[in-house]
Amino acid sequence: MASTSVVEVKCSKCKNAYEADVIDHIDLSEDRDLIKPLKSGKANRVQCPKCKKVMYLDRSIVLNFEPENVIVVFDKKARTTAAKESLMEDYRNVVSFNEILSEVAEETEFTIITKLDKLKVMLDDYLKAHK
Ligand SMILES: [Zn+2]
Repeated sequence: MASTSVVEVKCSKCKNAYEADVIDHIDLSEDRDLIKPLKSGKANRVQCPKCKKVMYLDRSIVLNFEPENVIVVFDKKARTTAAKESLMEDYRNVVSFNEILSEVAEETEFTIITKLDKLKVMLDDYLKAHK
């Protein structure tokens, strides 16, 4: 199952602030129904309870390309080298404090993707390889 967390969202239409569930992490082997919304950039859909305005949040999402040993962080905002390095640093920190993850990380390729087009290609390849 995808793991989610609760974030505070401010409605772009009526400025109402509300809490919404957003996706942090997706295991593609288990969450295949999320591949389609991911490809259209609409994985994180929230709706204002007051005026019903729908928004799609640009948050970073971690994707496990299981059973391939590939972890992708999709983050449209990580366009600079510094932003990418900071994500990479977070990843190393998380991994280094967890013995099981450290072992997994040794055999896992970690990639940061900022462009939806590139993510689409990876997801299409994944779908072709794992029908
Ligand atoms: Zn609203």
